[in-house]
Amino acid sequence: MSAARLAELIRDAQPCVVLTGAGVSTESGIPDFRSPTGIWAEFDPLEYASIEAFRRDPAKVWSFYAPRFAMLTEAEPNDAHRALAALEEAGYVRAIVTQNIDLLHERAGSRDVIEVHGSIRTSSCRACGASYPLAEVVALLEREPAPSCVACGGVLKPDVVFFGELLPEWAIERASELAREAGLLLVVGSSLEVYPVAGLPLETVQAGGRLAIVNRDPTPFDGDAELVVHAAAGETLRATADLLL
Ligand code: NAD
Repeated sequence: MSAARLAELIRDAQPCVVLTGAGVSTESGIPDFRSPTGIWAEFDPLEYASIEAFRRDPAKVWSFYAPRFAMLTEAEPNDAHRALAALEEAGYVRAIVTQNIDLLHERAGSRDVIEVHGSIRTSSCRACGASYPLAEVVALLEREPAPSCVACGGVLKPDVVFFGELLPEWAIERASELAREAGLLLVVGSSLEVYPVAGLPLETVQAGGRLAIVNRDPTPFDGDAELVVHAAAGETLRATADLLL
């Protein structure tokens, strides 16, 4: 049984660091990116999620993000988020590195979460730098297609990493440090196709750590993993946590 093997790995290969991607949130109703039904099947990321597209036509990029903001604020953590928070609480998980911007790990109770692609927690004015919390941005979006700064009229941008932008330096450095120090890197719900995040599994393995992957579809790193579980994250992590807690 995969959960039993995963539980044994988590128990024996400490510290366990978790790396999550969009696949950990699909059971909360949030589509992922690269699955056949993913977001990029419908939207061209360079047209709707790149910094060039935002500079060219912020209203068009906001037409992509506004419904996502609504969906993300209505979503609830699922069994996978809750299991990871419980495993952190019990001392089995050191930290979560996530590519997700949906705040669901934090809402499930996880405390040490490194958001390498930023999050919808705030949006910032491109002109004066003023920061706006999610609730204010949602309110502004009800009045205008591209929210503008109340102070200076500049256009707001979600504090999310767009294609063509660098990841927050502190976040990717901390993620890399955690990967190197991990006894086990547990990847959950990521296609591991986007660098630099996709480089983390090899940092763990090259530093002598072990790799486990829970992902519905195959990833380029399955061959480097000691355990690969091609199954749903919620069910797998709930069963694993039940064996450890
Ligand atoms: P992804 O869509 O590339 O991969 C998700 C993986 O999760 C897939 O391989 C799929 O098989 C798996 N999966 C889906 N549902 C699952 C479930 N219930 N249980 C187990 N596995 C499941 O997403 P990713 O790996 O996070 O890719 C990184 C992405 O970061 C890039 O596609 C890039 O576009 C994106 N990105 C996102 C944001 C953001 O808004 N979150 C910001 C910048 C970049």
